[in-house]
Parts: sequence; C-alpha cells; structure tokens
Amino acid sequence: MNIRASRFAILCRPAAAVAAVLTSTVLLAGTAFAHGEQDQIGKSRILTLKLRDFKAQMRELVEGGYDIAGASPGSSTVDIVQRASSQQSFNKEIFGQVIESKIVDTTIAPDVGYKTSAEVDEIIHRLANNYPDLVTVESFGRTHEGRDLWAIRVTSQAKQKAGKPVVFLNALHHAREVMTVEVALDAADYLATNYGTNNEVRDWLDRAEIWIVPMVNPDGSNKVWTEDSMWRKNTSGSDGVDVNRNYPYRWNQCNGSSGTPSSDTYRGPSAGSENETQAMMALVGRIRPVYSISFHSYSELVLYPYSCDGEHVPQREVVEGGGKAMAQLLPSDGGSGKYAPGTSWEILYAVDGGDIDWMYNTHNVIPYVIELNSTSQGFQPSFSAWRNKTVQKVRAAWQYVIRRTLQSGIRGNVTVAGESVDNAVVRVTSLIKEGDVGQMISVKGDGTFHAVLVPGSYKVVVARGERTVEKTVLVGGDLVTLDVAL
Ligand SMILES: [Zn+2]
Repeated sequence: MNIRASRFAILCRPAAAVAAVLTSTVLLAGTAFAHGEQDQIGKSRILTLKLRDFKAQMRELVEGGYDIAGASPGSSTVDIVQRASSQQSFNKEIFGQVIESKIVDTTIAPDVGYKTSAEVDEIIHRLANNYPDLVTVESFGRTHEGRDLWAIRVTSQAKQKAGKPVVFLNALHHAREVMTVEVALDAADYLATNYGTNNEVRDWLDRAEIWIVPMVNPDGSNKVWTEDSMWRKNTSGSDGVDVNRNYPYRWNQCNGSSGTPSSDTYRGPSAGSENETQAMMALVGRIRPVYSISFHSYSELVLYPYSCDGEHVPQREVVEGGGKAMAQLLPSDGGSGKYAPGTSWEILYAVDGGDIDWMYNTHNVIPYVIELNSTSQGFQPSFSAWRNKTVQKVRAAWQYVIRRTLQSGIRGNVTVAGESVDNAVVRVTSLIKEGDVGQMISVKGDGTFHAVLVPGSYKVVVARGERTVEKTVLVGGDLVTLDVAL
C-alpha cells in the first residue's frame, strides 16, 4: 500500500522541477534551444513571451500548433512549452520578446504531495467508507490503458419531492494540471466532513447532489508521474489526444484545435473518439447537471461558453453573470487583483471541441472552466506553499454555484396521471425582457427540469405530443417548485 515509497523507487529524484531560471530579455530570434542544450533528453523550456498584439499573436500561436501553457492577458504575456526535440522557433518580429526562459526537466515527477491516480482511488474509496450515508463512488468508464474513471457523488439520504438538482465538478482533463485534482478532492472532503456541523452544507446535501470527477485523464496522469511532467493529453493512438478538444459540439470547426497528432491540442481522429470523452458525455447525459465547473490550470481565469470566435450563448445574463460573479470571488495568487472572466475567444483564443460548449449546447448545463493559479505558479507550484491556499480560495467558486442552484430559478416536475415522464419539452420565456426568445429546457429521466433564472416574471410552456400546459411564474430570490400535470 505504500504508494509514496514505490513512486520514489521509480523516480528517485528531488521534487523541484524547475532546474534553472534564466532571466530577462534573452535571445531566441529564429532559434529553438541554444546550441549545446537542444539534445538534452527530458529538458524543456517554458518561454514567457511579451506580445505586442495579444489577441492577434495568440491566434498565430494557436494556429502554429504551439503548446500554450498559460497566459496573462492583462500583462500581454504568454507561456509556451518548448520541447527539447522541437524544431519550432520564435521570430521576434512576429512574437515579440522572450522575457523569461525556464528550463524544466520533464523527467522529474511533480511535487510529491500531488496525487497519482492510485492515490486518488485510495482517497475517494476511504472517504466513501468513512461517510457511507453521504458519499458513493462509482466507475463511469475505462480509459484506453484500462484505468477506471471515478465519479464521487456527495448527497445526504434526505429525499426531495422534485428530485435533487446536480452540481458537477471535474478535474484533470489535462494531465499536467495537478492542482485541479486537489481542488476536486478537497470539495468532496469538505462537503462530507462538514455535513454534521455546518448548517449550510447540511442544506446543500439535503437538497442537491454534488458529483465530482477528480481525474478525467488518469492515463495522462500516469505519464506525468512516470515519464513526462509536462504531458497534457491522454495516451491513446500514437501521440495521445487532447480530451478537451475531442467533444463533438463544433469539433474541428473554428481553428480551436489541431489536426496534427503530435500537437498538444490534437483533437483526435473523430469527434468524441476518446474513451474519456465518451464516458464524460454519458455521465453528463445521465446526471444532467445544472452547473458544472471544469478545473484547469493555469492563468487565473473563469471561462464560459461559447468558445468559437464571436459566439455568445443565448442566456448571457445567467451564464456570463455567474462567471463574472465567481471571478470576483477569486483573488489572484499575487493578491493584487481578481481572476479574469470571459469567453475563451474574448480573452485567450478560440477553442473547439471543448467540454463546456458541448455541455451547454447539448444539455443546458451552465458550465465554466476555472484556470487555477497564476503564471508565476505554473502547472505544478510548490505543494506546501500553494496547495491549501488554492483549494481554500476556490471553495468560494464551487460553493457559489451550489448556492445559485438552490436559489433563483424554477425546478419543475412533469407528470402524466401522477407518473413522472421525461419526454416533454419545456420552454421558459421572460415576460419582462423585450423580445426574449426563451430557452428550451429538456426534462431529465426522473421527470424533473431545472432553470436558473434572474428574478423576474416568466412564461413556462410544457409540451408533450398534443398536450401543452402554460404557466406564469414569478421568480424571486428563491427556487420556485413547479408541478406540471399534463
Ligand atoms: Zn487545461
């Protein structure tokens, strides 16, 4: 059972991954690694570039297939991972100055406090054993290498007449983003351990289900721990696939991914080709979350759909309002500012095949990406210095979406002759906002539907075959429960 000991046996190296830092305005017009260094196996560089035109040059970097580690739109800088084997070069005329160049030995495993997939398995099963009335763990799929994909459900035994709305948290689509796993595990632990003593947590778990996937990509994680600390993708095919460019909505449709297998944003051979993607899609389709947060790192951002250039979701008030509110709750690591909210295309670059666009479009989920930690901390900040600070800070964000789920909106229950039915269609339209086209809400398997709304007056139309029921609902600060008998 001594995972830690076996890990040391494999790696047998110190934990600090950054071997050296070269500072200030250096080099690299038209060169990759400087002479003499370029063939050092396992050595990569993280280059920080100061861009003259952030948006235009970010686009060029994405289209050029560069591995973008993180970015700071406010200071117009971007971090690029450059492999020792890379032939890519940076032309100062195009990309501006390299202001920092860190050498990373990618054969050195992350700080030992972070979790391997085996440790995650052990931790979540122990939590379920310790809190059998609150925590259940299930495998919702298997990876290419045969690892289980685990989901944790945290909720109490209390029953609700209209069922319980679901909030979904997931982490580690990208293998090297190890802090995201800590946030997911902390959320599960926090909810289970505070249920008995904290009235608000008790209310949450009595009225909602929190589903947590601590590792979407355990195969990639294994590679991070045993081979390459900068690995991002899964390990299927010849070069792995970026699971978060593989979802079928707008897959390969807006220059937001790469078709080159060796690229770090390789979208895969077809839409939804990956085991992890398929398992996530099936899980989301089954649990039908009201809100979702996908944790990534780094850059201190709160991102919301849509992610292709120029596109916004119809429900901007709720989706963007929530993202902006969460960003305000998250102080930056440096302490001088807050996380920045926006769509990916507004503040970084276009993304296609990402999970949040698919979740919103397919299942009416209100989904966010939170990019943890600053460009100073990177993918794998010191565990002792940053783990607790980060997970404690981020509680404000996931707690915000739980509160929002249980506050302003409509939770409906559709029945025919007293039996719940799921094949009805619901449209919710504002009676206040002029020209509101409304939103379609699909009904879950248990006959329930859930709409998060800003306070106001709404028309709810529920249709099934020839039968239609129309109701007017006044939404204030509380969740309104609506029984619809067709
Ligand atoms: Zn990521």
